[in-house]
Amino acid sequence: MDLELLDRTLADRGEPRFRAKQIWEWVARGAQSYEEMTNLPAALRAELAVAVPLSALGLEREAHARDGTEKALFRTHDDRPLEAVLMRYRDGRRSVCLSSQSGCPLTCTFCATGAMRFGRNLTTSEVLDQALHFRRRSGIDHVVFMGMGEPLLNLDAVLAACERLRDLGVSARRTAISTVGWIPGIERLAAEDPPVRLALSLHAPEDALRSELMPVNERYPLGDVLAACRRWSEARRAPVFVEYLMLDGVNDRYEQAVALAGLLGSQGTFKVNLIPYNPTEAGFKGSSRAAIEAFRAVLAERGLTATVRLTRGREIDAACGQLAAREGELART
Ligand code: SAH
Repeated sequence: MDLELLDRTLADRGEPRFRAKQIWEWVARGAQSYEEMTNLPAALRAELAVAVPLSALGLEREAHARDGTEKALFRTHDDRPLEAVLMRYRDGRRSVCLSSQSGCPLTCTFCATGAMRFGRNLTTSEVLDQALHFRRRSGIDHVVFMGMGEPLLNLDAVLAACERLRDLGVSARRTAISTVGWIPGIERLAAEDPPVRLALSLHAPEDALRSELMPVNERYPLGDVLAACRRWSEARRAPVFVEYLMLDGVNDRYEQAVALAGLLGSQGTFKVNLIPYNPTEAGFKGSSRAAIEAFRAVLAERGLTATVRLTRGREIDAACGQLAAREGELART
């Protein structure tokens, strides 16, 4: 719901200030229509149904995977594409993966979003509408900003959305912001200290390879990014989750595991998540399960906690960084 439009519409009608809060409470609890909002006057409900759509996003397409994963493709009012994913886990957790931008200005070479044109930052309402889409059908309890875009390039909107996510049942502690290592954003998180979790997309244990995979590394090199993460971790007293994509023959060799362990140390500041690669058109091949396991074992021997990420919704291209894959028209926009 476009919350600014709601505020303006209510103000134009001379409605009391508490109306916006009443409406938001309904929306955050998953209301499907204004009709349900029984504490609003009927005339107001009818007027809002026309003036302020329940979602600022148009739903273009949905896909459901056998493992319960759901993906939604949306368009903004100015026709920008974005996607979000709901993941259901066996232990009952329901986690939503949100986009912070339509497209992405960074050009990580392995990432499908990086290959499409950057559209724009999403507004707070557009971020929330992705989560609300899924909230209307089920409870949600975790959020990860691992969809399209770089959340630290749109931090005002992302943090404002985090505040409101609490009303949907997702506390900041259950919200993870994933970044390429955009240092000004990491520093701002350390200074303002919202209780969110921080995930860093690392993907290589040394600068030359990382710059090849993630050109942003030229601007913010590895050593500086890790130093900023350590400062965040000290301020927040929480570990940084390191995402390490497993690319066959590129970053999955024994020496690279040793280098990664040396770089991150065994003090518990960093926890590593090894991510099986979801093929896109970029030409990379994912490491085999055996190679991922061997890599994990080398890290573990050196005192670095590492887990292998479960792959969800693969047959619907629901994986992180792959949301735009096989959407021919998306890739071209
Ligand atoms: N820009 C942020 C958040 C969005 S990407 C970031 O880079 O962290 C979320 C995660 O998905 C990142 O770790 C990214 O490197 C990873 N990713 C990108 N493409 C992928 C692919 N094809 N398969 C698996 N993970 C991918």
